[in-house]
Amino acid sequence: MASRALSDLHPQLQPLAEAFLRRSRDAGVEPLITCTWRSADEQNALYAKGRSQPGPIVTHARAGQSAHNAMRYGNPAARAFDVVPLIAGKPMWDADHPHWQIMGAIGVELGLNWYGRPDAPFREFPHFELPREVL
Ligand SMILES: [Zn+2]
Repeated sequence: MASRALSDLHPQLQPLAEAFLRRSRDAGVEPLITCTWRSADEQNALYAKGRSQPGPIVTHARAGQSAHNAMRYGNPAARAFDVVPLIAGKPMWDADHPHWQIMGAIGVELGLNWYGRPDAPFREFPHFELPREVL
């Protein structure tokens, strides 16, 4: 089971994720973190979806290539989190819902790389990533 714990994020991403949640709630959005860190096996299982396994393609990253797999000093230190807005307690996956753009703007304001931005190479609205410059 992939982690949803903020403590499994890179130390510089933890306070940004907390600020992201706070600012989103202040803006009337209720974000649910669906994933912070995931293991190599979990990443490969996701990669198999839409390829050797049924379903749509959900990732272009194999184990070790995803920001969600990052480790630091032998501990999980994910460089990205995935989030979905809740509407009346239920996840709103439709990317046309305005709450996605509110969350996106807040993430970008915090300096995060939002994969829902129009020029993202592979648009992935739930994905917010620490910039590569942060080591
Ligand atoms: Zn992600």
